Amino acid sequence: MAKIMAVNAGSSSIKFQLLEMPEETVIASGVMERIGLEKGIFTIKYAGKKEETNPVLPTHAEGVQLLLDTLVEKGIVKSLDEISGVGHRVVQGGEYFKDSALVTEDVIQKIQDLADLAPLHNPAHIIGIKAFQKALPNVKQVVVFDTVFHQTMPEEAYMYATPYEWYEKYGIRKYGAHGTSHQYVSQRAAELINKPLKDTKTIVCHLGNGASICAVDGGKSVDTSMGLTPLEGIPMGTRSGNLDPTVVSYICEKEGKTAAEVVNILNKKSGYLGMSGRSNDARDVTAGMEAGDHRCKLTFDVQAKRIVDYIASYYVYMGGCDVIAFTAGMGENLIHLRKNILNRLGVLGVKLDENANNVRAVEQEITTKDSKIRAFIIPTNEEVMIARDTVRIANIK
Ligand code: AMP
Repeated sequence: MAKIMAVNAGSSSIKFQLLEMPEETVIASGVMERIGLEKGIFTIKYAGKKEETNPVLPTHAEGVQLLLDTLVEKGIVKSLDEISGVGHRVVQGGEYFKDSALVTEDVIQKIQDLADLAPLHNPAHIIGIKAFQKALPNVKQVVVFDTVFHQTMPEEAYMYATPYEWYEKYGIRKYGAHGTSHQYVSQRAAELINKPLKDTKTIVCHLGNGASICAVDGGKSVDTSMGLTPLEGIPMGTRSGNLDPTVVSYICEKEGKTAAEVVNILNKKSGYLGMSGRSNDARDVTAGMEAGDHRCKLTFDVQAKRIVDYIASYYVYMGGCDVIAFTAGMGENLIHLRKNILNRLGVLGVKLDENANNVRAVEQEITTKDSKIRAFIIPTNEEVMIARDTVRIANIK
């Protein structure tokens, strides 16, 4: 038995889950938010309770120390010696990392070197790692990368048709994202249809505020919709997804903006927010659609069409598909979006089961018995994957 802390550190937040392994039971979970601001928020759930306080958290280090003190104070652990490993989610591992890794100075340096590709994420992850190293100096730390699962993509899937020197000099290629989620969901999909993973073809639709589609053949990612950065692919909460790159220079000229400013708009003011003009949150856009707002309905239709474009393309690329799986905030909860997507796939023999689809956030099959491709809602669990990898890489018994 070992207790593993799975951590997702952002620039002003630390999400955590303490798991008992190998049972994979969650002992405590929560988040520290507004680190560096006047009043932080610390939420912790344990033993059926949920508690929230407003401590001052000048830096991540104080946040981590408070979290560890709280675990002991509340008797969640008797002593910190019970924590055998800490696993950190890291967004970008580039081509350096083909697997999760034990944290060393060299590993931290490489995560730093990759910050250009994930400026909002990688530096924040390093701050989180250092805070845990300081608070638990004798505990092994492991990094689990969102990109690793996609390192199996064949060259033809990850290369852009840009000058080859850009790849050689700057590493310009597709890296993908949400790998930990795609891996968990595709493994679970194979279990649910009772087929060996090596023989299962799955298309995973990770539809959250950030969203990506992944073709998983025999447990390996063979293509995914996100690219060099999380801007590529389908429209998301605030991101545009694919477009003609000329839009950037055109808007620069028309509005006197720099390329960086326009790309910032494509990242932060586009997608659901930009199209609907209301919100990046699917619940608000759904309310707008239900009230008859054309742009809100169009937002979902554009996204559903683009998702189906990927599904159809991956179906052909893999030479078939056993399961289409929906996960993350919208994939798990947005009944009308799943329906919109699956109804467009009738030509592939997909048949939605309306009743079964009428649920939120439960693991469930949502196609009829005679559907040629089975579709499931599979709530994702990135923390359990982080904990599993921490045990494996740090060789924790
Ligand atoms: P994520 O990034 O995975 O947390 O997903 C965030 C997205 O999921 C937001 O657009 C939310 O509107 C959407 N979402 C979360 N819960 C629900 C729900 N109960 N019903 C509809 N959409 C939801």
